[in-house]
Amino acid sequence: MLRGKQRAKEIARERVDILLDTALHEKDQELADRQAVMAKRMVMRHRIKLPYDLKQLYCKHCKAFIVPGRTARIRTGRSCTKAVRVTCLRCGHTYRKIIARPQNKDL
Ligand SMILES: [Zn+2]
Repeated sequence: MLRGKQRAKEIARERVDILLDTALHEKDQELADRQAVMAKRMVMRHRIKLPYDLKQLYCKHCKAFIVPGRTARIRTGRSCTKAVRVTCLRCGHTYRKIIARPQNKDL
């Protein structure tokens, strides 16, 4: 039983990968959205842990599928904390992802 479940999870993860990859390159926004919703549903059903780069494709606020350069704007911050600011162009929500803490300030 456990084996079966694990296998299903593996297949689901593969399908999520394919779906999101296709959605990213899909010119048709509506189709991409549908693919993203399908992927998300699969993720929730199988309790798959999405890798960070895939998680970033969903807006933290409106949960929409956002494509960097198309429906999301990505900017690096100007402060000394290295961070990227992701702006969802659908709901306007901005969030910051810190990529590196300031190190060796006194150097
Ligand atoms: Zn949003």
